[in-house]
Amino acid sequence: MVKVSIAKCPNYEEAQAGIRAVMEPLGGFGAFIKDGQSVWLKPNMVRPLPTVPALTDARFMAALIKEIKEQTDPSRIVVADAPFRGYPGEKAFNFEGEYSGLKMKETCEKEGADVIYLDAYEWEKVEIPEAKVLKEVEFSKLRNEVDVIVNVPKLKTHVQPGITVAIKNWHGFISWKYRRLWHSDNLSQKLVDIFKGPGAMPNLNIVDGIIGVHEFGPSIAGLPFESKTIIASPDPIATDAVSAYLMGWEDPFDVEMVRIGHYDGVGVGDISQIEVVGEPLFHLEGWIRPNMKLIAEYPNINVIVGSYCAGCKSRLKFAIENILKRGMWAKYFEEHAPLTLVCGVGARLPEPSEDVMYLGDCIMFDTVWDEKGNPRLGWDEETVDKRKKLLEDPKAIWLKGCPIWFTEVSDIIKDRLKKAEEAKA
Ligand code: SF4
Repeated sequence: MVKVSIAKCPNYEEAQAGIRAVMEPLGGFGAFIKDGQSVWLKPNMVRPLPTVPALTDARFMAALIKEIKEQTDPSRIVVADAPFRGYPGEKAFNFEGEYSGLKMKETCEKEGADVIYLDAYEWEKVEIPEAKVLKEVEFSKLRNEVDVIVNVPKLKTHVQPGITVAIKNWHGFISWKYRRLWHSDNLSQKLVDIFKGPGAMPNLNIVDGIIGVHEFGPSIAGLPFESKTIIASPDPIATDAVSAYLMGWEDPFDVEMVRIGHYDGVGVGDISQIEVVGEPLFHLEGWIRPNMKLIAEYPNINVIVGSYCAGCKSRLKFAIENILKRGMWAKYFEEHAPLTLVCGVGARLPEPSEDVMYLGDCIMFDTVWDEKGNPRLGWDEETVDKRKKLLEDPKAIWLKGCPIWFTEVSDIIKDRLKKAEEAKA
């Protein structure tokens, strides 16, 4: 049976003892790193934020480097990641004011590790014959230059696949070009496919769950949670199965990527086939999973949908919650009429006005009826042209993309609030 180890750790000051405790039932670091080998530690550096602990904590990384060095004698330790598409690694690794208040680069270098910004490093195209969707992708060349890879994710919920821990952290293993590709209902399959690529399976996964992110994670709309836990396993799928259980999923198979990872043979997601060592399994009391309701959920926001998928749905939910958390909706509706958000194939289009936003590329397709009276996808040129004319009306706002990018919704709301303030001044 695959082992997943759990340890309690009250705070980052005691992270090194917590890491030692979680590794002990797995045989310590010596079971994974031989003296003289080089090690790549891959944290989650997605996007530093001043108020939400979205990144693997720099204090956790420092403790991890120290403990590896105390237990083994590696030739080199490299800390490397590329944040989300378009956000430079250099900025993320040198960001001042992330939750821990420490700069990741400086902190890791102080412990003797090298730092590499993966986005500025070399990528190579690889084929993944076993993949179901991600048949080709680009992996960092760094993986060919190290002996051991350690995945160091953060414990977080995620509005789209439910959780982001060991499996989702491997999105940072691929180049920006392929990140937003299939960030729709294919996301979980795409993530599992990455592990099937050459040299892509980490040797070890160690989760920073000392302070996690719950509710509308993984970033700005989420909330910090003192989960005081560290999880470790050589199997990323089993790591996520146990993490999901801790975050409140009674059956981790309800998390799609855990289920896919198990049935694709990448790892073990069935909790009954996992040997939990260290602390016994438990649910984190008070941890909130994201509520994904959109329709009739918010006063003053009407959501009209056609056939849409998790790509735009999750971003829309994330955008609304982000604006809500910042108190911007209350101000917005002091000045504006209810807002209508329209998304998906064949969604009914209201009359365009400044209070309607159309979302996503697939909205250009309408529903048509075939000769038997069955509704079909209207993707012929005439139907698409007719629909595009309505969508491209100068009074309409159409956020294109497949999926949309959530900050564009916030930007429009911010812009309107700014204009209203200027008009008052
Ligand atoms: S544009 Fe349509 S298909 Fe693409 S992510 Fe959005 S809802 Fe899904």
